[in-house]
Amino acid sequence: MLELKNIKKSYTLANYTQLALNDISLKFRKNEFVAVLGQSGSGKTTLLNIIGGLDHYDSGDLIINNKSTKKFKDTDWDAYRNNCIGFIFQSYNLISHINILANVELGMTLSGVSKKERRQKAIEVLKKVGLENHINKKPNQLSGGQMQRVAIARALVNNPDIILADEPTGALDSKTSVQIMELIKEIAKDKLVIMVTHNSELAHDYANRIIELKDGNIISDTNKLEKQNNNKTYAIKKTAMSFLTALSLSFNNIKTKKGRTLLTAFASSIGIIGISIILSLSNGFDMQIDQFEKDTLSSFPITISRQTTEMSPEDMMSMTPDKSDSYIDEEVIYPYDTASSMLIHKNVFTDDYLNYINNINPDYTIGVSYLRTMSLNMLIKNDDKINYVNNLSLSSLPKELKESEETFLESAYDLLKGSYPKDKAEIVVAVNEKNRLEKNILEALGIDTSKEEISFDELIGKEIKIILNDDFYKNNNNYFVPNMNYDEMYDEGITLKIVGIVRGKEDNMLAQIVNAMSMSQGAGNILYSNELAEYIIEQNKDSLIVKAQQDLDYNILTGEKFTENYTKDDMLAYLGAKDIPYIINIYPVDFEAKENIISYLNDYNKDKSDEDKIVYTDLADTFSTLSSNIMDAIGWVLIAFSGISLIVSSIMIGIITYISVLERTKEIGILRSLGARKKDVSRVFNAETFIIGLASGLIGIIIARLLLFPINAILKDLTNLDNVAVMNPIHTLILITVAIILTLIGGLIPAVIASRKNPVEALRTE
Ligand code: ADP
Ligand code: MG
Repeated sequence: MLELKNIKKSYTLANYTQLALNDISLKFRKNEFVAVLGQSGSGKTTLLNIIGGLDHYDSGDLIINNKSTKKFKDTDWDAYRNNCIGFIFQSYNLISHINILANVELGMTLSGVSKKERRQKAIEVLKKVGLENHINKKPNQLSGGQMQRVAIARALVNNPDIILADEPTGALDSKTSVQIMELIKEIAKDKLVIMVTHNSELAHDYANRIIELKDGNIISDTNKLEKQNNNKTYAIKKTAMSFLTALSLSFNNIKTKKGRTLLTAFASSIGIIGISIILSLSNGFDMQIDQFEKDTLSSFPITISRQTTEMSPEDMMSMTPDKSDSYIDEEVIYPYDTASSMLIHKNVFTDDYLNYINNINPDYTIGVSYLRTMSLNMLIKNDDKINYVNNLSLSSLPKELKESEETFLESAYDLLKGSYPKDKAEIVVAVNEKNRLEKNILEALGIDTSKEEISFDELIGKEIKIILNDDFYKNNNNYFVPNMNYDEMYDEGITLKIVGIVRGKEDNMLAQIVNAMSMSQGAGNILYSNELAEYIIEQNKDSLIVKAQQDLDYNILTGEKFTENYTKDDMLAYLGAKDIPYIINIYPVDFEAKENIISYLNDYNKDKSDEDKIVYTDLADTFSTLSSNIMDAIGWVLIAFSGISLIVSSIMIGIITYISVLERTKEIGILRSLGARKKDVSRVFNAETFIIGLASGLIGIIIARLLLFPINAILKDLTNLDNVAVMNPIHTLILITVAIILTLIGGLIPAVIASRKNPVEALRTE
């Protein structure tokens, strides 16, 4: 049952209040055809909208099902409109971008009726209004009368108890008007129909009750109901639009403006394209660096030095002067000790540790090379004249932990002349790729360097004598002086013979690295076996000078006191008293082996105090971290720029959505009149931005993917690297999600604006 009690409604404009309904009280029968007559502005539409719950009364009450509607919430009104009311408007109010069938189905879609049932009911009711042959047409392909039939079908399809028609024939010619009136009369058989008209002739012909309004007051009622029987109950079921419905509604809307949507999606995809390419590049570079590290950098040794500065890649980066550092103006100098301000760790190489290194799984390493501070006393004989060799530093080849067919020297160096060494007394000279050798080495060997070229033969066969401590130092009452008798020493010395000239293999990174490492660590290009070094130490460790030094607290040769920088141990190492290297280089077999070695080295440090820990340097790792850090830094800057374009594009989406809201205002009104909740309306627009966001994400990824072809081609040209830029599928997914989220955020405010629109006003817009 439906009853209006003292309903008042006025509209307040800027400085003027217009009374639209003035204390209206009305009771309606469950089944009657009521015509509401009155001049324009008399309040007819307002009355209808209030009955239909589209507009709300100021005071009084609207009684539905014996219940006051004063406490109705928005969703109660929505459900009431959807279940109990069918609206028919003068201007039809069909949604233009969906077809007739979808228009009729819409109310049922809102109340969650299954697709099959929806279709069946819609076709049934369209048959009733004589439009079964037009169901796939769009509204603008129909005549006015046909459109009004669609509107009637839409009003009927949910089988509401009340039909509200606002001048349904107002826009139709008289012949069509009669047809429509017949149709409404037919409906009115089992429903309450309230029809507004200003055509009193039609009203008198068809209605069985005529109410006349004037200035918001009822001035006549031809069939007034005095006593209400209270048995009729309207079924009110809550409505809810699914996101899928919202999507399909928006998808259809978007189809009508493909060009604009595509352009918007493309414009907002630019940020995605940028970020995607940058990520692909940095992803690709990371992979290239990884590969490079695996291929070549893995031959870089792990270096363990007696003294290491603990320096992270960040520290290295910060070594370049920072522009932001302000310069000092005062005319003073600040004493500063760079060394002590760095974190220096002293590695103490105990016998235990050296043993530990010796026990590295031989499968992991090509060899371990030791750089020693032991001095080698050498003599050389040229043209029967014996000279002391100054300035000649020899490099000890890596100690190979594993017996293999090829020695390290054989695998890493080409033999240019002579032979590879067969025992510890044989040494080789290594030249560089241009066959160059430092002059001072040649001069130390007594070779005339004024010539432009020196034949290999001049070097091969040359002998150097290593003089052991007991021959070299003469004891003079606990005072040691070098032996001046060269002839005697020469005869006693260990003979080393240059047997070959070698050169690092062209494709062998390792030889070059070993060379570079030993040069940078102060060793030379004359290569001898580690075995020889061990043998010399073995001989020297019990020498008289060593024994004497062990009992003294000052340097036995210079008489100087030991300091923190030069300790007794340093002196003993110099004398070859102990095999304590200064630097240990461990050459890994390959990348995995390196990881294994590192974890082996880490194991040693477990449970050790900081002081006793042995700190190693992985140069390759430092390099690659450094380069990938730089890559990352560049990447972030570029991503920030692209990010700005993403933000700009989401603002653009906001504007576009707002325009769409303005364009679809009427549709909002229609949806609301059919019982759509505010939430459903915002959902429609969120669905629209979702589609645009998804499209822009996909377009962005596709364009970025296509751009990678020329980008990779250019990089191939520049760097000779294949497929540098590689898209990471996870990045792709994240970027599409970001595109969707950003466009959703951009469209959020317009969507809320849409949902807040007053349905009556929305319907009135054209
Ligand atoms: P009718 O349908 O009988 O022509 P209405 O119900 O549309 O009349 O309007 C009743 C009165 O209320 C009119 O004076 C009209 O100008 C005023 N009115 C209706 N809707 C609004 C509105 N949204 N804002 C201001 N005034 C309104
Ligand atoms: Mg009106």
